[in-house]
Order: sequence, then structure tokens, then C-alpha cells
Amino acid sequence: MSETHEGGCLCGAVRFRTRGQPFRTSACHCTFCQRRTGSVLGLYAYFKAEEVELNGAPLTRYEHRSDESGRWLRIEFCPTCGTPVTHTAELWPGARGISAGAFDDPKWFAVERHTWTRSKHPWLEPPAGVATFEKAATPPPSKAT
Ligand SMILES: [Zn+2]
Ligand SMILES: [Zn+2]
Repeated sequence: MSETHEGGCLCGAVRFRTRGQPFRTSACHCTFCQRRTGSVLGLYAYFKAEEVELNGAPLTRYEHRSDESGRWLRIEFCPTCGTPVTHTAELWPGARGISAGAFDDPKWFAVERHTWTRSKHPWLEPPAGVATFEKAATPPPSKAT
């Protein structure tokens, strides 16, 4: 039995359960993540889609196209409270990103990389020992395909 972790949106209408370990975890400092979260970065754990079970209210989806890569990202959020619970990306077919703060225990996994540090806030320094990337961290991991 692999480990499971649960989470959900602010109002509780959307719940999810993940199975196993994420194949990638990252803090993203890109301007898209800053705007979409209304904060200074996005913090994510990525799983294969079949390792994520969504329960409760159907998520509302918004598609954004990157002005850098031209690829789509689909943000999925609670229709009632607006929490951006998950997203999918054209770059990683068959994968689903979970917003770290939506886990009931948002600290259960280690953040292994910081991406798009060229647009990070100057007061925010990634901790030592963590991989940092000026832009995107590509190529995508083979486990996602
Ligand atoms: Zn909600
Ligand atoms: Zn980003």
C-alpha cells in the first residue's frame, strides 16, 4: 500500500487524495504563478493523473497560454471559494499538479527545486541545497509520460 495524502479547498466543497510520492515538487517564481495565486510564488507537487482522486464539487477550469512557451496550462479551482486546487499542463501529459497549500498537511513533502528565479521577489532566497533555475526546469521528467 502506497501512502496517501488528502486535501481540499478553503470551503471544503472540493476534496482530493493523492497516492504515492510526487514525481516532482517545485516552487515557481514565474509572473504567471505570482498572479494566479495572488502571492509571490506557486508551490506544487506533481503526480501522475491516476494517482490523484478528486471528490466533491466539480472544479471550474481556466485555460491560460504561456506567453513564453505558447503552451496551455489549465488551472482548476473551486467554483465556490476560488481555491486553485490543481492544474494540468500541456508540457506534462498525464500529470496533475496539486497546489501545496491545499493539502491538509502542506509540509509533508520536500521542495526540491525553485524555478523562474529571474522573477522572484528580491527578499526571498531559496534555501541552500535546493536546485534553482533562472527559467523553466526542462526537460520534463520521464516518469510523467
Ligand atoms: Zn471551495
Ligand atoms: Zn510558474
